[in-house]
Amino acid sequence: MFKTLYSKFVSGYILYGLLGFLFIAFISSSMTYDLLLSERAEALYDEASLIASSYSKESFYAEELEDVGKQLSAVAAFTGAEIWLCSDEGQIMLSEGGRDLSGRFIEGFDPSSDGSSYTTGTFYGMFSSDMLTVMAPINYGYSTGGYVLLHYPMSMVLYSTNSFLNIVYISGLIIFLLSLQILLIFTFSVFLPLKQITKAASEYASGNFDYKTSIHGKNDEIGYLASTLEFMSGELAKQEESQRQFIANVSHDFRSPLTSIKGYLEAMLDGTIPPELSEKYIKRVISETERLNKLTEGMLTLNSLDTKNTLKRSIFDINRTIKEVCASNENICTKKDIHFELTFEDETEMVYADYGKIQQVLYNLIDNAIKFSPQGSAIYISTAARQRKIFVSVMDMGIGIPKDSIKKIWDRFYKSDSSRGKDRSGTGLGLSIVKEIIQAHGENIDVVSTEKVGSEFTFSLPQAEGMEQ
Ligand code: ADP
Repeated sequence: MFKTLYSKFVSGYILYGLLGFLFIAFISSSMTYDLLLSERAEALYDEASLIASSYSKESFYAEELEDVGKQLSAVAAFTGAEIWLCSDEGQIMLSEGGRDLSGRFIEGFDPSSDGSSYTTGTFYGMFSSDMLTVMAPINYGYSTGGYVLLHYPMSMVLYSTNSFLNIVYISGLIIFLLSLQILLIFTFSVFLPLKQITKAASEYASGNFDYKTSIHGKNDEIGYLASTLEFMSGELAKQEESQRQFIANVSHDFRSPLTSIKGYLEAMLDGTIPPELSEKYIKRVISETERLNKLTEGMLTLNSLDTKNTLKRSIFDINRTIKEVCASNENICTKKDIHFELTFEDETEMVYADYGKIQQVLYNLIDNAIKFSPQGSAIYISTAARQRKIFVSVMDMGIGIPKDSIKKIWDRFYKSDSSRGKDRSGTGLGLSIVKEIIQAHGENIDVVSTEKVGSEFTFSLPQAEGMEQ
């Protein structure tokens, strides 16, 4: 029934109005009635006492009663009450402000029966409707000579109560209507924007990332929510684009070696490649297969880094690791007549990192340096400690990276045009892997490169000094 936030809010609001009304109707009306009744009784009693103190038993004689009657008639008109003077036996001597009951006896009159200062009802059946009655004794010495009775119609008390309550009801209604603006504020500042945000979210979910809400730019929580959602849609769009790009790159990079392999094998099979040349082409097939293997391995490494595989950190000497990676590249270096120049600030530099992954970082950077360096050049590798970090730099005197490619070299599958011709074995994944590994360590990597001069890659690692081995 109350599925939407709005219906909950509106029903809560109506419930609040109803409860308020019921409170006024039941609790405050009975409180008002009681209050007005006791106030009226008190006022009448004061009046009755005043009258009682003004007259003595002698006033009950016929010749005096006439004068008293005139005076009491004026008081009765002023108070709106019926006034009786009666003897202690209950005989009405004088009645003003209503019927003439002089001489009648109040049947069963017992002034001591009720202890309270006022009574309500028909007063011993003397009235046909309910009256509020107060009674003050006329004291004569130490005895009571008679009573002054004031009877006020209960209908008048009710009338006063209702008049008062009507004011309260009208004020309550006005306040309730005024508080409608809370509902309006809620509608325009929360409900309608939320509706738009819900629409936007479902548009984004269905892939329409260009959808915009008109809430954008509002400086409240709803505005922030809308901006965050739009930002999220932007990120999702970027992610979708990069995924598309990724699949396009993967397909392209896998297709070209596969096409070559298929071409070579078919040509060998149908005799286009004579058997004496088959060794050369089988070597090419093997090299293409190695490339495919490298691609798959690279993608698997990136995937394992993506899924936040925890690092297996240990303390090891980075200088020694560098020497090992250099040694493993000895063959290719001899072929290209390239030599390493190692400069270590200290003989050993202990770092706290994932040994296997850092080995791969060094391998990728040194592999690139060798690939893009000319015959007979040197590759400079250095380590230095600064502010509890070890900085490792790999510098070559190679072809360098064009300015417009510098930012892209970290992208998956990126290979600059200049390198494409020179480097057939590259996958374009090496530097993305390097960056992800370094970032997984909470560290940074940077490059400085000038075309036709050379490139220098520098990354940092946490120093292990003071750490337990
Ligand atoms: P690959 O595995 O193909 O080398 P990388 O991600 O390692 O891919 O490198 C991406 C691109 O960055 C390379 O194709 C090359 O254009 C450029 N690059 C990387 N290292 C160097 C370097 N030392 N000198 C010049 N260009 C480089």
